[in-house]
Amino acid sequence: MSTTDRTSYRTCPLCEATCGLEVRTRGREVLGIRGDEADPFSRGFICPKAYALKELDADADRVRTPLVRRDGVLVPATWDEAFAEIDRRLVPLLGEHGRNAVGVYLGNPSAHALALGLYAQVFLRALGSRRVFSASTVDQFPKQVAAGLMFGTSLSVPVPDLDRTDWLLVLGANPLVSNGSLMTAPDVPGRFRAIRARGGRIVVIDPRRTRTAEAATEHHFIRPGTDAFFLLAMLHTLFAEDLVRPGPLAEHTTGVDEVEALVRPFTPEAVAARCTIDGATIRRLARELAHAERAVVYARIGTTTQEFGTLASWAVDVLNVLTGHLDRPGGAMFTQAATGSPHTRGTPGRGKGVRFGRWTSRVRGAPEVYGELPCACLAEEIETAGEGRIRALVTIAGNPVLSTPNGARLARALERLEFMVSLDLYVNETTRHADVVLPGVSPLEQSHYDVVLRQFAIRNVATYSPPTFDVPAGQQPEWQTLLRLAAVVAGQGPAVDTAALDEFVTTQRVEHECGTHRSPIEGRDPAEILAALAPRRGPERLLDLMLRTGPYGDGFGTRPQGLSLAALEASPHGIDLGPLAPRMPEVLRTPSGKIELAPAPIVADVERLRTALGRANGGMVLVGRRDLRSNNSWMHNLHVLVKGDARCTMHVHPEDAARLGLMNGGLARVASRAGTIEVPVEVTDAIMPGVVSVPHGWGHAEAGVRLRIAAAHAGVNSNRLADEHALEPLSGTAVLCGIPVTVAPAG
Ligand code: SF4
Repeated sequence: MSTTDRTSYRTCPLCEATCGLEVRTRGREVLGIRGDEADPFSRGFICPKAYALKELDADADRVRTPLVRRDGVLVPATWDEAFAEIDRRLVPLLGEHGRNAVGVYLGNPSAHALALGLYAQVFLRALGSRRVFSASTVDQFPKQVAAGLMFGTSLSVPVPDLDRTDWLLVLGANPLVSNGSLMTAPDVPGRFRAIRARGGRIVVIDPRRTRTAEAATEHHFIRPGTDAFFLLAMLHTLFAEDLVRPGPLAEHTTGVDEVEALVRPFTPEAVAARCTIDGATIRRLARELAHAERAVVYARIGTTTQEFGTLASWAVDVLNVLTGHLDRPGGAMFTQAATGSPHTRGTPGRGKGVRFGRWTSRVRGAPEVYGELPCACLAEEIETAGEGRIRALVTIAGNPVLSTPNGARLARALERLEFMVSLDLYVNETTRHADVVLPGVSPLEQSHYDVVLRQFAIRNVATYSPPTFDVPAGQQPEWQTLLRLAAVVAGQGPAVDTAALDEFVTTQRVEHECGTHRSPIEGRDPAEILAALAPRRGPERLLDLMLRTGPYGDGFGTRPQGLSLAALEASPHGIDLGPLAPRMPEVLRTPSGKIELAPAPIVADVERLRTALGRANGGMVLVGRRDLRSNNSWMHNLHVLVKGDARCTMHVHPEDAARLGLMNGGLARVASRAGTIEVPVEVTDAIMPGVVSVPHGWGHAEAGVRLRIAAAHAGVNSNRLADEHALEPLSGTAVLCGIPVTVAPAG
């Protein structure tokens, strides 16, 4: 093996921030990782998780060979044996019970990995099941549903132009810890400091005094689940005080009068008791937003994982539109990703819009959203007898037992499956139920390009990372594993030639592109395009196609200075494509060709909110908590990230602790309709009275899990408390923020 010292540059794949890394290696060993100072977007910033890539790469608990269940135990097998088992058990099941008998769960890392993202789609097409679930219905679909209804596509999510704003309102987000979500922005701490250094203001609305709140100029506690009331009261103030000034957006907007009527009942005084924010403060913030030259409202997980998540997301964008802060520097803007988006394709300024409910879940009739069913329905779809029952499950880089509602019920349901396959790095709380585990590879053994996350970047940037290491002998690139799975479910058998299948998949894609109206290669000969892509294969070939037909692409010769994968390979730190630029009206893909401020599903749902206005706030409620050294469930087997004091604790306000008899460091029993957990108590005034907080992603003490470090820092699974029946109706997203609970000392 080579022992040559090497320095390579790559994008960190661990969260949404896309920081540039400088990775020093000697042979197959990682010597060190630090921030890439020359990365035009992250400029050297990284967080502690990046260092853990070294440990992740070397983790002895990672699955490195396929595992097949024999006599109840997962044992090592060859790739051929593993695929023979999948073929033997999955294909008859598909033949007898149809495509919907096989469900698929896609975990969050699928959105962070080039190969998984591109080739999971190939597998899904080959499978043809309508039982697809993902982490999107755990936390983010409300944002995408609202954006789709207003602007026309699932990816039309405006992002805050942090680098030019002077007034920022943040609700339910903790980007100093999460590093941003549906807002790709490395170095949020630095960007926040810059806002304040130029005299700007940051206002945070959150039930916890988070690190983001501490970095803000102003923070207000809000009762969990009431953000929509707060936001509609801000809208009410704009109308009541004649502050509606959409400016140039007016000619591209419909529905202003309908919004005025919708928000009429939500006066600041009417919502104050529900939100626990007084009416005067709401009015003042609405005025400040309206009068600021460069301002933006940004909201995330606390507002999207609640009862009125889509309404809250809609209200955020309506505030930005009505104050003229959408689509202008310093406001909420649309990214133009180099690989293209639904809102850079087709006819500029008009499209088909979005449609939901094309099919429903079998048991409770929940509508599909963007092709997916709510993950909170997965357990009942497995358990409930009858035609169309999910009998087999494929999980791809996911751990829904820890990350979706009522994980205990889901774990029991997985035991009732007739067959389960998992593609994963670990035998975790979910994959321990699988009959076949197919190993993924280390992030450092893969090439990388953030096709998804660059869609939400606050600056247009493109960066490609070649693999740092080769895939070790005996392992297989994930795209080939997914192609082989696709071949099995397509009935082509387990011994398919993946190179030939990749050729087929790519040719289809090129032919489609050559036949696509307004594509830069419309009408070209597919053979010519395929020749131009040679000799690339796999994800690189598809990525090159996307870049070259994207908004900055070279169009295979039509724009010779344009972008291509070769250009990115020649720029290892990435290529800066500039700040976000106004895109109205070409960005729109709504049927009307306008920003639709009052789409019918939203209008109908406001009545549900109005009814809830009269409800009392009730007892204790639970919210989640994010930690800088955690990323959902899957990074707890890395010592560097779990060492130190236990972080899976329950935060409770001192007044509540005294009232409930809870001691700092003692154990609390927390119960909800769905389940009960016992968790160590941390008394702190950083949380508001009436609310407790437990982080999610923990609970690693299950038998059969092969995560030795995580087991020593097990924590408890807070999703045992999440009610699988509580769904936000428009997006099918789980209600995780504001779960009613009772809290008492344990024992
Ligand atoms: S902030 Fe996210 S992308 Fe940046 S180093 Fe940390 S984990 Fe990686």
